[in-house]
Amino acid sequence: MTVSRSAPTVTIREVTKTYGRFRALDAVSLDIAAGEFVTLLGPSGSGKTTLLMVLAGFVRPDSGSIRFGETEMVLEPPHRRDIGIVFQNYALFPHMTVAGNVGYPLRLRRVGKSEIARRVEEALALVQLQGYGERRVDQLSGGQKQRVALARAIVFEPRILLMDEPLSALDKKLREQMQIEIRQLHERLGITTVYVTHDQREALTMSDRIAVIDQGRFAQIDTPDRLYERPANRFVADFVGESHFLPVTVADGSARLGDRILRLADGVRPPSGAALLVVRPEKLDLAEGAGEGLNRIEGTVEGSVYQGESFLLQVRTSDGNRIAMRQPTRRAALRRLPQPGEPVALALHPDDTILVAAEPAP
Ligand code: ATP
Repeated sequence: MTVSRSAPTVTIREVTKTYGRFRALDAVSLDIAAGEFVTLLGPSGSGKTTLLMVLAGFVRPDSGSIRFGETEMVLEPPHRRDIGIVFQNYALFPHMTVAGNVGYPLRLRRVGKSEIARRVEEALALVQLQGYGERRVDQLSGGQKQRVALARAIVFEPRILLMDEPLSALDKKLREQMQIEIRQLHERLGITTVYVTHDQREALTMSDRIAVIDQGRFAQIDTPDRLYERPANRFVADFVGESHFLPVTVADGSARLGDRILRLADGVRPPSGAALLVVRPEKLDLAEGAGEGLNRIEGTVEGSVYQGESFLLQVRTSDGNRIAMRQPTRRAALRRLPQPGEPVALALHPDDTILVAAEPAP
């Protein structure tokens, strides 16, 4: 990645925001590196937009500090923060042309006419809208509108780019295409970026790091692969990817599923106290034909669903819990899958045997 020379670090320290007695943000802290792409991921109402608005300067926190580089920003108004913002609903001026919209931040900054024309053309080329300058915004598709909004957010070379669910109005195909485009644009420009989404796949696709937020607090801040492969707690394991949970007992440093001791990856120790085994459908295999040294889970097949690229087998374990396993269709063609009503033994590799603390009932 080319880190833009002016890209600052962003330091968020102990930021709290309450609405009446409700804590939308509860002393959150996060260090974002210069040129990094960080996503705030969480369910509806978890505080993502509030934190983004605190960064933008539209919401003032009750306490805490926001620094861009070395400069304290918490009392600075939005227009002094040098931030580009893209919202979910485009927020374009419908009566203006594409060029009028994209050039707007430059006119505000009193940039000369010919310079505006040059930079607007450059920004439009970056979002693959060369030659669209004279079009009216209301003649564009959703994807094109969002590209215009992106061009407008980057045309004045902001030091920081904030995006709040910018793709959620688009259909799935376009959304996936735009995810890659925004990621590539980020790699070219190196602007420090904070992106908000509730879509875990989008977060995994786009981010250098993801901050998972739950009820105004960070549940885990990590790279996409660490977040998926090593979720720190039940909330993250549940929210990122598909998981089922099996109760495990921990004693003398070993974790037991039923009466079997679970093999864990080298150096991994089970949490103390009650724990849960995180079972992801695609990490399970049929035990028959699987190698030695794996963990076994026994049960009965309850259902089998064809889903195109894979079959999903629903399994009731011998101690009565429900889990699921996924078999790619290509592999399922080579072996007979057990049918509903039949017993099944499943294998789980120690590297994929993830334990999280069982949280006390609320
Ligand atoms: P969504 O994905 O639905 O946009 P979010 O994670 O972005 O959710 P926020 O918009 O940050 O969530 O809201 C966090 C919480 O703060 C919510 O419970 C919301 O109702 C509350 N909240 C946000 N703004 C206000 C406000 N101006 N007054 C009162 N409560 C608010």
